[in-house]
Amino acid sequence: MSLQSNYQHILSLLPENVKLVAVSKTNPADKIKELYDLGQRAFGENKVQELLEKQIVLPNDIEWHLIGHLQTNKVKFVAGFISMIESVDSEKVLKEIDKEALKNNRKINVLLEVKIAKEETKFGLTADEAKDIFNNYLKGNYPNIEIKGLMGMASFGEDETQIREEFGVLKQLFNELSEQIPLETLSMGMSGDFLLAIESGSNSVRVGSAIFGERNYALN
Ligand SMILES: *Cc1c(COP(=O)(O)O)cnc(C)c1O
Repeated sequence: MSLQSNYQHILSLLPENVKLVAVSKTNPADKIKELYDLGQRAFGENKVQELLEKQIVLPNDIEWHLIGHLQTNKVKFVAGFISMIESVDSEKVLKEIDKEALKNNRKINVLLEVKIAKEETKFGLTADEAKDIFNNYLKGNYPNIEIKGLMGMASFGEDETQIREEFGVLKQLFNELSEQIPLETLSMGMSGDFLLAIESGSNSVRVGSAIFGERNYALN
């Protein structure tokens, strides 16, 4: 399957209200440009160094989403241009983002990444941690940040019941926080589970391999 047919296929499956973030990690800039030329603007990368190398050679109107764990000392490298940091997994990194946003005289959009998978995952907030951070945000602690919503990753594998359950937990937290101030973005769903995620209330999916093909880490 070609990039174009993969892309059109995915687009055809997405309801109008669901945003597509094309996850381009491990794919070269010319592949990203090919998708850009087909009209895609939002791209997701999980490593800062890789993102910077691509950002500098690609068009300025690309909307870059950072979707991988962000170390505090690397926030400054992306603060000037990043469109959305989807992977805020500690209050420490949120503080740093706020500081760097101020330095860059802009507001930075973020999502709180919540751990929903039953399997052991390294990164992500518990629901209680996310609520605490959100309350501090509502008190005005992070004036240079806009918390737009939540991001989460379900367990890998075939257990549809479990995946639905995990997405359901995030959707519920999203609804709960939205009662305080309305949130815009619920980012859940990847190549293998985005349709389930949408059924569970996702309005932003992060799809990589179903568009670009399987990643070949050996070449990266
Ligand atoms: C790699 C990645 C994706 C995309 O995964 P695919 O299975 O290739 O669609 C989505 N979200 C995050 C956080 C990722 O790291």
